[in-house]
Amino acid sequence: MSSDSSSGSNDSAASIAVIGGGITGLASAHRLMELSQHDGRSVSIQLLEASGRLGGVFGTERIGEYLIERGADSFITNKPGAIQLCERLGLSEQIISTNEKYRRSLILHHGKPVPTPAGFNLLAPSQIWPMVTTPLLSWRGKLRVAKEYFLPANAPPGDESLADFVRRRFGQEALDRIVQPMVGGIYTSDPEKLSLRATLPRFPEMERDHGSVIRGLRRSAANASESASGARYGLFASLRDGMSTLLDALGKQIQKSHQLELGQRVDSVHQLADGTWTIQLSDGTPRPGFAAVILALPTYRAASLLEPVSTELATSLNQIEYASSAIVVTGHSLADIEHPLDAFGLVIPHCEGRRILATSFLSRKLDGRAPMGKVILRTFVGGAMQPEEYEHSDGEVIETVLAELHSIFGVKGEPDFAVVARYPQGMPQYTIGHLDRVAEIQRLAKSFPTLALAGNGYRGVGLPDCIQSGETAAEKIWATLTP
Ligand SMILES: Cc1cc2nc3c(=O)[nH]c(=O)nc-3n(C[C@H](O)[C@H](O)[C@H](O)COP(=O)(O)OP(=O)(O)OC[C@H]3O[C@@H](n4cnc5c(N)ncnc54)[C@H](O)[C@@H]3O)c2cc1C
Repeated sequence: MSSDSSSGSNDSAASIAVIGGGITGLASAHRLMELSQHDGRSVSIQLLEASGRLGGVFGTERIGEYLIERGADSFITNKPGAIQLCERLGLSEQIISTNEKYRRSLILHHGKPVPTPAGFNLLAPSQIWPMVTTPLLSWRGKLRVAKEYFLPANAPPGDESLADFVRRRFGQEALDRIVQPMVGGIYTSDPEKLSLRATLPRFPEMERDHGSVIRGLRRSAANASESASGARYGLFASLRDGMSTLLDALGKQIQKSHQLELGQRVDSVHQLADGTWTIQLSDGTPRPGFAAVILALPTYRAASLLEPVSTELATSLNQIEYASSAIVVTGHSLADIEHPLDAFGLVIPHCEGRRILATSFLSRKLDGRAPMGKVILRTFVGGAMQPEEYEHSDGEVIETVLAELHSIFGVKGEPDFAVVARYPQGMPQYTIGHLDRVAEIQRLAKSFPTLALAGNGYRGVGLPDCIQSGETAAEKIWATLTP
């Protein structure tokens, strides 16, 4: 995948460096290509990726007859980024919906998996009967949730933590037993620290606009008009041959006419007096002559590269925290498991005192992943709530996970395989004040119109958010370079 070049300069075309070959960097480079084709202006793109593969924190792998995902296994369709990119890349035929038969989730309750009440929407219920009948809450807890309908809107000024919001509207029990594990399963975060405005802004908006979140949810359910893509594919979609299909398609497109280099770690970037950028590779080689640079990196990595350019900007970027987590992917015979695994997965409240965060049943969620009679489990470990669990060796983590799977689902015997996928500092934590920090970063970055920052550290961690962030960065740079 690599082609040699010692300079970013090219006589005929503006030269742009994209640093980072995760989904954000790939989407950035691809969008630059689209803009160049559309405007009939040539561009020379160099995408530099430190590791030996594209995709950053996600990628598909075949293990015997199993098709596993190490990171992201699907993407949400009510945000257009991922679906539209797949369609533009000619991958429409590859897009698959999740399996309707198992479309529900479980929550561990006093050691037993219990279905999440139907219609429960991350923070709040939209249906009454499933809440009345769920064993997840005591009567007192259920009455407290129901009271939300009648509570006046009373949001405090400024940013509020997700935990404070849920306690204020629905009570402590709903937070501990339902919301914390569900949200923790997405962000691997502590809800006491998570910014509600940065992670789930539609809920405070419902409180503001409808006086009550339950009322807001019921009204929006009544008017439900999902976007065309959402309605077509269901809320989550994936790709038939695995998520790497998207990475491969992007890589191939970029390589056709531009440079895509693996194993090229960038140590720093420097802006010269003439406005051009020089990139310093970790082997000491400088690459001069870039008209613009897109840093498609975690914020702490962008900070380290930008230290010579602006310590103020680097300091602001370093204020965004990340948490480390791991996924243990295992393959089992269904005959070795007592539980029917009749769901997409299980999330675990912190108060249950377990050593794992959640388990997703990949081959229940998506067809074509495991051979007949087998199942793939993906168990999440670590995160902001249990950082100590991430610190153990792979062997110890696998042992812990198998013990928990045995205790919760009755998983017996040895798995067909067990793989530990680690994500050191892989998940940004949108803590209280996050949007102000991002605004400050943007304010400081304005001094560098030919520099763009993109990735999961700013305005969304999901793949559609990252794709949009990468594409927006490309559009900003294109607009700056276009006379
Ligand atoms: C465990 C896990 C599960 C997830 N599951 C889902 C899911 O199911 N659905 C979903 O929508 N989202 C999911 N996400 C979120 C989503 O996958 C990520 O937010 C997204 O993939 C991040 O992409 P990125 O390109 O911004 O960053 P990264 O993937 O981190 O890519 C950054 C790239 O930059 C490279 N790099 C770093 N430093 C340098 C340097 N100095 N020079 C050159 N290259 C460098 C890295 O090697 C890496 O390849 C998940 C995230 C994690 C961690």
